[in-house]
This record gives sequence, C-alpha cells and structure tokens, in this order.
Amino acid sequence: TSLFESVELAPRDPILGLNEQYNADARTGKVNLGVGVYYDDQGRLPLLESVSKAETARIEAHAARGYLPMEGIAGYNKGAQTLLFGADSPIISSGRALTAQALGGTGALKIGADFLKALLPNAKVVISNPSWENHRALFERAGFPVETYAYYDAATHGLDFPGMLASLRALPAQTIVILHACCHNPTGVDPTFEQWQEIVQIVKENKLVPFLDIAYQGFGDGLEEDASVVRLFAQQDLTMLVSSSFSKSFSLYGERVGALTLVTSSKDESVRVLSQLKRIIRTNYSNPPTHGGTVVSTVLNTPELYTLWTTELAGMRERIRTMRVQLVEKLKAHGVTQNFDFVLDQRGMFSYSGLTSQQVDRLRDEHAIYAVSSGRICVAALNSRNIDYVAKAIASVLT
Ligand code: PMP
Repeated sequence: TSLFESVELAPRDPILGLNEQYNADARTGKVNLGVGVYYDDQGRLPLLESVSKAETARIEAHAARGYLPMEGIAGYNKGAQTLLFGADSPIISSGRALTAQALGGTGALKIGADFLKALLPNAKVVISNPSWENHRALFERAGFPVETYAYYDAATHGLDFPGMLASLRALPAQTIVILHACCHNPTGVDPTFEQWQEIVQIVKENKLVPFLDIAYQGFGDGLEEDASVVRLFAQQDLTMLVSSSFSKSFSLYGERVGALTLVTSSKDESVRVLSQLKRIIRTNYSNPPTHGGTVVSTVLNTPELYTLWTTELAGMRERIRTMRVQLVEKLKAHGVTQNFDFVLDQRGMFSYSGLTSQQVDRLRDEHAIYAVSSGRICVAALNSRNIDYVAKAIASVLT
C-alpha cells in the first residue's frame, strides 16, 4: 500500500479555477475580470521601465549570486521602512522598526504569523468580513483560530462602520487584528482617515495586536497618502506588525517581493525580535532570493529610478481611476438606472460590484466575461477596448 493512499484531493482555489475556465473559453472578445493583477490599457502585464533599467544595470554588473543574509538586503529593508513611515520618521531613526525581506506579502504574513504563534500561543486572529481569501487559510495553517469582524455593508456598498467598531470592541486583549491599510481586497472599500482614528483608539484601549497588510501602496490615493494609516498606528506608540507587498506596485509578481516590518518599543527589543525572525526564516527557506530584491532595492535607492517608478505607479493608479469613472458613465449610457457611484469611492484594483452570483454566471455564459462569484471585479483588467463591451453586458444582466 502507498503512504499516500489516504490523501484526499484538496479543494481547488476558486480564483485559479476561474482562470482555467477563462483560458479554456474559445469565444473571441472574452474578458477576465477575475484576476488579481494590474493589466495596462493593452491588456498586458506591464514590465515597468524603472524595473527594466534596474535589471539591465544588474546584468551589466555581472553580479555573482551569493546567499543573502537571512533578513535580506539592507537597502531593500530600509526602502520598505521609508515607504511605510517616511524618510524622517523617528520610528526608523530610534531603531524601533525592524524589517525582513520576505517572499511577497504572503511570505511576510506567514513569517509574522509563525512569530506571533510562538509569542501568543492562545490568541485568536480576526480578519475582515470579507477578506483576501488567503488570510484565513494562512493564519489557520499557522495554528490560529480565525474569526471575522464586521466590515462590508452590502446594502450601502460601503463600510459597516458601527458593526466594525462593535466587533473590535468585543475582542479580548491580545487578539491579532488583520487590517487592510489601504485598497481593501476584495471590496475596494476603505475606512476614512477619521474612521481609522476611532479604530486605532479601540485597538489601543483593548490592547489588540494590529497586523497591517499593505499590498497595494500607491494604488489608492498616492504612495504617501496610502501609508497614512500605517503612520497613524505608528504614532500611537503601538507595537505592531506590517506586511508589505511590492508584487503589484513593481509589477514583479513572480519575483516574490515583500517585507515584514515590526514596530517595537525600543532598539534593544528590535534586536531581539529580529533574531527570532531570522530563526523562523532560517528553518523555512534560509534566506530570500536575490534578483527581485536587488531590483526593488535599486529602484528605491536610486533617485532617478525612484522618480521614474513613482511616475509609473501614478500612471497605473490614474488608469484604474479612469476605468472607474468610465464604467459608471457607460453603465448609465447603456440604460442602467441603479446608482453605481459607489464604484468611484472604492480604492485600489478591486470593486465589489454588487452583482449577484447569478448575474456573474450570466456574464460568463452569455458574454464570456469572467468575474468572481462574490461580484468582485478587477477594475485593472478593464481597458479602453473592453470597457464598453463590459458595461453593455452588465447592463443586460441587470435588467
Ligand atoms: N494581502 C493582500 C490583501 C493581497 O491582496 C495579496 C495579494 N493579492 C497579498 C497580501 C499577497 O501578496 P503577494 O502576492 O506579494 O504574496
């Protein structure tokens, strides 16, 4: 008998399953709004010029590929901290922040989860309802019970702020709270800065453990603006964790570029905490890969490339914004009477469109347009060639 005889087939990832269906669809003009990546107006995954220049410099330097330190490239980690807290932040100068390069935002969350499990073995984790689907799986796999806090209000297509506050108020001390620092995935709905000020007070009073996930910095209102929640939390003298992903902002998905940053209460604490993170990294994958990290570090630390990158990032952000505006206009033009203005208030790549799973099925069956059954659409998959077709199709399934 085989050792693996009793192994069951794991359920397949719903979004990856959607991509397979899309790829197998022979209809011309098909549109995949189920993806979680940014496409340009030609419907292509961009290779940023800033990235390309940094790569060329790296290849021309004929750099050897030795092992990196367990915590990764120093310039990369410094760059990640600067994006989060700002160049002049006392959090950085006082040594209260420590960062480890990580295998994407996912890797950052996992290192953080493993660290927290050893520190708080009896704590639970709460995630927003709904959240990025991997949050629950990842923290459960790390050994935590995972519950949800109220977040999205389907009736208003906005935030259930009273519900969110009530959920957070009811949590016992040391509950780990996963918060999307900007551009909430999957809804696109973010609290306002004033609402965040209330949230942070509850986190503080109830001694909750904030774990901020920032996977779309630069896709909301701007690089600095999108960090304002991280900076708000940091200013409260809170200890916290932050997972950064550069997958989207550098269009380097497959390079696994992310970072885990912790804010401690002293430099001495930071040294001890980093030593523990290094043990977790050592026993998982020893050290991060060189290529993507070097490229990101070069862009972040070379003034001309940094300026070019911020311009390219602004271009991606503004294109998504344009698609939001056009989608709402075109829905109206195609006779939709329901109010879709909420799409304009949402931030980042995604929109909870309000479409029901039956309407999503009809979009697929009748129009070859693929979306997640929750109604989540990737606004960054819309472009000047497909937006009219998509708006017309949505109009037809709404009536
Ligand atoms: N957090 C959120 C909210 C995300 O949406 C994603 C990726 N889509 C991640 C983390 C993980 O990012 P990465 O691909 O860099 O692992």
